[in-house]
Amino acid sequence: MKRTLILAAAAIVLLAGCKNKKDMDNPFFSEWNTPYEIPDFGRIKTEHYMPAFREGMKQQQAEIDAIVNNPEAPTFENTILAFEYSGQLLNEVSAVFFNLSECENSPEMEAIEEEVTPLLSKHGDDIALNAALFARIKAVYDQRESLGLNPEQMRLLEKHYKDFVRGGANVPADQQERFRELNTRIADLTMRFAQNVLKATNAYSKELPDGTKVTLDMPTWEPFMQTCPDRALREEVWHAFTDRCKEGEFDNTKIIDTLVNLRLERANILGFPTHADWVLDDCLAKTPAAVYDCLNAIWNPALKVAKQERDIYQKMLASDLRVPTSDLRLQPWDWRYYAERYRVEKYALDDAEVRPYFCLDSVREGAFMVANRLYGLTFTERTDLPTYDPEARCFEVKDGEQTIGILYMDFHPRASKRSGAWMTEFRGQHRQPLNTEHLTLNTEDYENVIPIIQVVCNFTKPTEDKPSLLNFDESETLFHEFGHALHGLLSKCTYPSLAGTNVPRDFVELPSQVMENWCRHPQVMKLYAHHYQTGAPIPDELIRKIEAAATYGQGFATTELLAASLLDMDYYTITEKQHIDPLAFEEEHMQKIGLIPEIISRYRSPYFQHICTTGYDAGYYSYTWTAILDADAFDAFAESGDLFNPELAKKFRHLLESGNTVEPMDLYRAFRGKDPSPKALLKRKGML
Ligand SMILES: [Zn+2]
Repeated sequence: MKRTLILAAAAIVLLAGCKNKKDMDNPFFSEWNTPYEIPDFGRIKTEHYMPAFREGMKQQQAEIDAIVNNPEAPTFENTILAFEYSGQLLNEVSAVFFNLSECENSPEMEAIEEEVTPLLSKHGDDIALNAALFARIKAVYDQRESLGLNPEQMRLLEKHYKDFVRGGANVPADQQERFRELNTRIADLTMRFAQNVLKATNAYSKELPDGTKVTLDMPTWEPFMQTCPDRALREEVWHAFTDRCKEGEFDNTKIIDTLVNLRLERANILGFPTHADWVLDDCLAKTPAAVYDCLNAIWNPALKVAKQERDIYQKMLASDLRVPTSDLRLQPWDWRYYAERYRVEKYALDDAEVRPYFCLDSVREGAFMVANRLYGLTFTERTDLPTYDPEARCFEVKDGEQTIGILYMDFHPRASKRSGAWMTEFRGQHRQPLNTEHLTLNTEDYENVIPIIQVVCNFTKPTEDKPSLLNFDESETLFHEFGHALHGLLSKCTYPSLAGTNVPRDFVELPSQVMENWCRHPQVMKLYAHHYQTGAPIPDELIRKIEAAATYGQGFATTELLAASLLDMDYYTITEKQHIDPLAFEEEHMQKIGLIPEIISRYRSPYFQHICTTGYDAGYYSYTWTAILDADAFDAFAESGDLFNPELAKKFRHLLESGNTVEPMDLYRAFRGKDPSPKALLKRKGML
């Protein structure tokens, strides 16, 4: 969560505590004297972060102590709201520091990150494990029905209570020691799992006849598998990749066995029958059954298309080897090679033909145009506002006459920026109490604070004679991140921790992915994709090629993704402790779903990091889940015959405005008028 705000009251208290001139110069220790209270980027220096972090943690600890030591009985105001609005300085410095460490990195920033990470982790634990604080939250929670709370306040209370409970605050005393031991062991195992994958990946490198090397990093390995004509060599390199960590020095199989069982035990202590039940309780999906329903709805159609793809490649292989098709079998190491050859033959897009229609400025204007037609928003570039880098462009976002947010767009690579594309916030929208000493239930006592949003990408830089020209994937990326930005910009919530993008993991990609649908719709493309030299709109023939390229290879891509998602669920829905041999487990479960032998799970268990280390345990389904939602959501507009249908736009805007103040699935149904159906996704993938 990244939220920032500074308050007159807090700043005065803080300044009174400042010991010396140096503290007085630290811009984090005073109000930003900037338009819209944008962080005072020009004055922030690296030496300001650590003192601000330390002071921020100290302040929040003092605020927590004050809640705990309050002689008055716990109330929503003196406990929940006091907790919700604690840590303002810490939030502010964290947002600036962690956003800039991604796009303005330096050895100094890295050193600070290393120094502050363990301190923040301890600070977070001190709060999460504060029994006296939880006792007060629980006391308020237990009387929640009689407090006269509005729905948003009720949800805030439930959220904080649940967060503590999920962290183990309610675990009976006689099981607490074991619970803590489980957390420590799980953390240790996940770390070792990741190290093994990294080491096994780095341990392999093969010199090729042409002098180049193939490694097991995806960006090197995959193009090799797609282009290497030597079948035996493909087989060897495929095995090197897929046999990682299954035995020997970097063996992860025993770690999986232990990890899956320990996670089951921890879920049981927390009162859930399986680890998946515990994870999903905090997501939209809610139950394993709902996840299986979602995955199974796509499985058979995907498998059917995958088999058609297989038959094509099988024939190509037979013709290459000059043997009858029935005499040999396509192998997993053949798949990518023939898929790529077929793609180049039938569906290849000529980059030089596509890019001139997707000039960065046209695509950005296209995204702005869609937001304008749907929600009436306007975007005006402001060159007079503070900025953290001369390359970051700043836009004032207005709804009618009213400024609703500030949007930074930072498009091109530089040495200090990490790769990829993302959206984040320097400050989230929320309502700020006018008097933090006296927190009330009355929303009149709060004033709206507008969000400051950042979108960061790594698109090709313009040159002297050519603007930045995007390929189609990059254009979709821009619309995607802009969709996240709209979620932050349109937020209309009161409490910071429920506002904007602070929604469950299987919901947060809906606002972003849905925007990609407008990006790729022929009617919309005609509106924004204009040749950068001639101004001519994109030709129909090129649109048709882009559409065909987008559905090509979906059988394989969907099947391997679903296989991995189902495998993830199979591990984490075990209800009894048991010895698990991951290789046998995987084999058995892949057979059960009827996966064809030419395809394997996108990740084999011993290197399936998502479900062991990176927080996607019982969560790998989210990709499919959100895709169903975004396709179904856009389908509402398509079905209505108006891609900018005002009535639907109004309803979808309500979903974006509501953050996590309402159960997101209820928001979805209110928009769509029914439960999401997988039909639109199947149609988009060419599987209907
Ligand atoms: Zn995203």
